[in-house]
Amino acid sequence: MSGVKVTALGCLSKLLKSLRAVPARPCSLAACSRKNTRNAALHPLWQSPLTIPGGTRQSPINIQWRDSVYDPFLKPLKISYDPTTCLHIWNNGYSFLVEFDDSTDRSTIVGGPLENQYRLKQFHFHWGAINDWGSEHTVDCKFYPAELHLVHWNAVEYPSFEEAVMEGNGLAVIGVFLKLGARHEGLQTLVDALPAVRHKDTVIEFDVFDPSCLIPSCPDYWTYAGSLTTPPLTESVTWIIKKKPIEVDEDQLEAFRTLLFTSHGEEERRMVDNFRPLQPLMNRTVRSSFRPQLGP
Ligand SMILES: [Zn+2]
Repeated sequence: MSGVKVTALGCLSKLLKSLRAVPARPCSLAACSRKNTRNAALHPLWQSPLTIPGGTRQSPINIQWRDSVYDPFLKPLKISYDPTTCLHIWNNGYSFLVEFDDSTDRSTIVGGPLENQYRLKQFHFHWGAINDWGSEHTVDCKFYPAELHLVHWNAVEYPSFEEAVMEGNGLAVIGVFLKLGARHEGLQTLVDALPAVRHKDTVIEFDVFDPSCLIPSCPDYWTYAGSLTTPPLTESVTWIIKKKPIEVDEDQLEAFRTLLFTSHGEEERRMVDNFRPLQPLMNRTVRSSFRPQLGP
């Protein structure tokens, strides 16, 4: 277990080296404070305890490629989304959520590590103030500038999302890393809508969107048992982290950073660094659907 902590600290020190002027990383939301001490103020979401006492499967984690275990029994993940189940975009004061009609099995995932079919509830992103960090998960201590989470719930075993959130196999979240590169045409539809939800608590209609365009076609993924990364932090998530990132361009990331944590009339605070810090792996194994690479 101490080895795990060393790993998490290893990542931390790697990040801190890149920050030079920052003496410590007291929390995820202060990690960005290279130039801007205003970020030392915690987002209200994190004024409650940062950890779950006794938690043994918290997220996010660092995925150490060489420590992940290839599982030949892991199936390919089957994704089937109906674009007309898309409902709206909501700035909830921490990210923007694209929400779906989950009253029927029209947008679902099945297979992969999952024993049931799971329904799409919403997707959202986490991102940094600059491109050096922003993702919640890391791979071999590498941060990506942003990470997409597609949140699904087990409607076979539970009657509602709210009940599924409280159960060990209640949720399945697909994580996709965003890296800097070419403009992503699928994402652009979403980016074009963001000015309308700049402030906290604004909602706009956003019907007809197929988020499978945001998921890389490469079938490879890692999977592990974890938690929500925002309160209530319940240990209900089967994480499916895609190995291959998608490419987005600088303007698209900048559009995320024009959103606000704050409501109309409040002093404006930019929505950036909305990620939770790494959590210890504890007694968990990260499985991969693909054979480990040989060589460096
Ligand atoms: Zn998330």
